Amino acid sequence: MFESALQTYLKNHNYQRIDLHAALFDMDGVLFDSMKNHARVWQDALLHYGMHITAEEVYLNEGRTGKSTINAVSMRERGHEVSDETAAEIYAFKSELFNQCPEPPAIEGAYELLKQVTKSGVTPVLVTGSGQASLLGRLDEAFPGIFNPDCMVTAKDVRYGKPNPEPYLMGLEKAGVLAHQAIVVENAPLGIQAGVAAGIFTIAVNTGPLPDSALLDAGANLLFPSMQSLSDAWTTLYDEIQSCTL
Ligand code: MG
Repeated sequence: MFESALQTYLKNHNYQRIDLHAALFDMDGVLFDSMKNHARVWQDALLHYGMHITAEEVYLNEGRTGKSTINAVSMRERGHEVSDETAAEIYAFKSELFNQCPEPPAIEGAYELLKQVTKSGVTPVLVTGSGQASLLGRLDEAFPGIFNPDCMVTAKDVRYGKPNPEPYLMGLEKAGVLAHQAIVVENAPLGIQAGVAAGIFTIAVNTGPLPDSALLDAGANLLFPSMQSLSDAWTTLYDEIQSCTL
């Protein structure tokens, strides 16, 4: 079922096989249904500082660090970047607005998938550019016993952020595995680009409003319409990943 996508990945990277030990999960839009809140508060926060962003742009830029998003908008609207202090101020304001939103629920199927992944002997690793303490603090409540704090990459670890491969390369390092020993699960085009640039088999889940083509054009090796459908396919996918050879 997934053979041709796996073969293409192995050929492109000249790997004999994937020896799966770690699954690198993005957070927003993969584990928490938080993107609608992010889209709304990015618009409100930037407007407060006289800048504009559309909801679609928020989805297209998802995965960038807060500072990178603010600078991209500032460049477009003012022709210059903002100072580090201003970026930190705007991001803090945005985070404050986010915290006032209703708590986003876990994405349907996410916990079920995480439990299956763990049962397969694969280590789940969190890889997010987010510094949103309200969500990071809820990980253990929403997904009890899944994430080891030593196996998390967050905004405080990353310098460049997605689409740079840095966050996923750090995730590999934290898990103590190589690119062909992991998979990435992502919902955003820039996150997919980062996973692909890190040389990792990258699975897209389209949990948002963007067309599938936005995720496939970013280089996703496989695409699922939801976390539930990926969870439903996990047993088959895991078996095929482990048995597929070049
Ligand atoms: Mg995401």
